[in-house]
Amino acid sequence: MRWRGERQSSNIEDRRGMSAGKVAVGGGLGSIVILIIALLLGADPRQLLEQVPTDPSAGGGQVSRPTNPEEEELKQFVGVVLAKSEDVWNNVFSQNGRQYREPTLVLFTDRVQSACGMAGAAVGPFYCPGDEKVYIDLSFYEELRRRFQAPGDFAQAYVIAHEVGHHVQNLLGISGRVDAMQRRVSEVEANQLSVRLELQADFFAGMFARYVRDQGVLEAGDIEEALQAASAIGDDNIQRQTTGYVVPDSFTHGTSEQRLRWFKKGYDTGDMRQGDTFSASSL
Ligand SMILES: [Zn+2]
Repeated sequence: MRWRGERQSSNIEDRRGMSAGKVAVGGGLGSIVILIIALLLGADPRQLLEQVPTDPSAGGGQVSRPTNPEEEELKQFVGVVLAKSEDVWNNVFSQNGRQYREPTLVLFTDRVQSACGMAGAAVGPFYCPGDEKVYIDLSFYEELRRRFQAPGDFAQAYVIAHEVGHHVQNLLGISGRVDAMQRRVSEVEANQLSVRLELQADFFAGMFARYVRDQGVLEAGDIEEALQAASAIGDDNIQRQTTGYVVPDSFTHGTSEQRLRWFKKGYDTGDMRQGDTFSASSL
């Protein structure tokens, strides 16, 4: 993807190098210790509490970690990808008489606190509907290259586009409805609903890819890279990688073949109405 010089999104929250949770707890303990000392010394604790400096890393302060140029470039790249996703969804929503609320992309290292709870980098990139943010530890791209053999910048773009697809589902009320349904059905049926949700996010990622193509910034091989990523992180492939065998009932993302096909459908049609994975009789 020819991304250099393209607009970068301002909806990026860089939390790399900040420790999640621990720091906030430490700060809290520190204040309590100061408070106890203050009480022992007979000072007015209210005055002292106001002087306790708030922990900068707990509230989005300066990152002290040295930046590595490769990762800085990656950050700029995801900034452009997010901006493109804003363009496509602002467009699609306004064409349908709706207003798109842009999500925030949070970059983190190792673990992160979200409205959906604490998450480690091991879970991979994810979207949290509670705070409308997409979370990614950029080291996941290393894993995508090495473990899943899906290299290339458009493979990386696909990952963001898929998570933004979950945001779109959230705004449209789809994820909420699925969530409510999942509470009432068996685990197997709940998994099947998850698969449909995931395949729709892939469809939306395909729509994103089509938009980028129409902008003329795609390069040869980009779509193949995205398809490779979609196929590499299908549940069947992940299960084969981790357990050596495939258990269809436990699929929550769809098979590699299904992910490919729905991504491709979004790319070929660019039409949101074609992406109703919930009423599709066969996936
Ligand atoms: Zn997903």
